[in-house]
Amino acid sequence: MSACIRARSVEVSLMVMLLAVNGALVLPSSRGLPLVLVRGRFVCAEPAGEGACPPERIGIRTSEGRVYFFLPADSAVALFADSRLRAEELQIVALRHDGDRLESIRVRLVRGGRLYDIAYVCDVCQIKSPVPGVCPCCQKELAREETPIAP
Ligand SMILES: [Zn+2]
Repeated sequence: MSACIRARSVEVSLMVMLLAVNGALVLPSSRGLPLVLVRGRFVCAEPAGEGACPPERIGIRTSEGRVYFFLPADSAVALFADSRLRAEELQIVALRHDGDRLESIRVRLVRGGRLYDIAYVCDVCQIKSPVPGVCPCCQKELAREETPIAP
């Protein structure tokens, strides 16, 4: 029983240690890069009216105003193409590379205090993709599908 209590207190102190500044959760990762959990909204750090945002200028801005950019080939950059997603709050688990560049591992939608997995589907062909675009089969625009995560 005492071992059980000890294990729980270690777990609690670990949780406290993991809560870093800026509300970002930091965990050690197997590749030596810090694993971070960031909540915020997409941002293009480029003057408006210049067409598509360059991939290296696409990032996520937290409620504290901190901006993390993604690696240019990251899948989160592809999600930026879904313009309606830019108004939504996102929760991103990512590896943090040098210069605060994020390599996203999982991107979820936050709405009403709940988390949603997102995917893009063609209801005609039953095709599912992690990123937006047109169906490779029938060329129809893929529709965003949101699946609530059990609390
Ligand atoms: Zn299709």
